[in-house]
Amino acid sequence: MKPRASKDQIDDVIQKVQSAGLKVDLSSGEYQTVIGIIGDEKKIDFDQIISMPGVNDAIRIQSPYRLMSRSYIPNDVKVKVGKVTIGGDEPPVYISGPCSIESYEQLYRIAKAVKEAGAHILRGGAFKPRTSVHSFQGLGLEGLEHLKAVSKDLDMPTVTEIRGEVEVEEVTKYTDMIQIGARNMFNQDLIEAAAKTGLPIFFKRGFGSQIDEYLSFAERIVANNNHKIVLCERGILPIGGSFKPMTRFTLDLNAIPAIRKETPFPVFGDPSHGTGRRDLVLPMARAAIAAGAHGLMIEVHDRPQEAMSDGPQAVLPEELKKIIKICNTIHKTISESDSPFSDDVANANGRS
Ligand code: PEP
Ligand code: MN
Repeated sequence: MKPRASKDQIDDVIQKVQSAGLKVDLSSGEYQTVIGIIGDEKKIDFDQIISMPGVNDAIRIQSPYRLMSRSYIPNDVKVKVGKVTIGGDEPPVYISGPCSIESYEQLYRIAKAVKEAGAHILRGGAFKPRTSVHSFQGLGLEGLEHLKAVSKDLDMPTVTEIRGEVEVEEVTKYTDMIQIGARNMFNQDLIEAAAKTGLPIFFKRGFGSQIDEYLSFAERIVANNNHKIVLCERGILPIGGSFKPMTRFTLDLNAIPAIRKETPFPVFGDPSHGTGRRDLVLPMARAAIAAGAHGLMIEVHDRPQEAMSDGPQAVLPEELKKIIKICNTIHKTISESDSPFSDDVANANGRS
């Protein structure tokens, strides 16, 4: 719309779009309102839209993730989880805690330690997606009760994973952010159900997905009117599996700056699942922050040998403290350098 378009003019355009059976996504900036059109583009005549009063231009964004693209939202989007702000030029945010919630005592001990180490958001899985049916599947609702109690006792916002649509409604009562894990990245119904809760979504990249597929599925969250998305690179698998790497997955660091160029939403790195190895978490955490991650998800256990899942990649709380300290230093140095992170995305549409 033109910078001085009136509310009536904006409403007329919305009405026109909706009466063609299409949905709108309204983005009201300081100077200008942009009306995103969602649905089958053949249902609307762009020439008619351009001739409506107050309309500045009507353009087709070709990208399949157009509502998330920088052509549509040029500036970085910040996402709030409890009182923690993620994204843009904010300092890195650390999400930390055990892979699985095992008991109130275990979660409390680890949460207290990660908070003291500098973590901002507590993680812990209650509904665990596992490759093997013989592995620990999580405590379910009992785990969520522990998560909520520890969050209250230590005043820390939380994130936990949902595995199926049936859990969505229940989980929203217990957490500040919902995680959709790598194994569910292509689960359209789950994504849409999670988006509709209105809670922030921690959306992990599937380990067999291209970046454009990943963003196309994230687009479903925005298309359901939820703009609170945090993306996360957590490692991919070599196509064809022709060689066996020494690491659980391959943390695709290319994805971090590449995604930041495509979309204004915050991007995290997960060096725990990305490597599967405790000894590699620190170096890959440093690398992810240097590549432009807005934060990290790091699994911690104070007794990794007793962990019910992902023990080999859990770092001790002391190690987390070291990781946070060095990553903050790296972030600060790059932010103050001649080529800060914002330069990397300044020319977002000028890809060659
Ligand atoms: C997790 O965060 O514990 C998890 C299962 O992650 P991912 O979906 O990345 O494997
Ligand atoms: Mn895990």
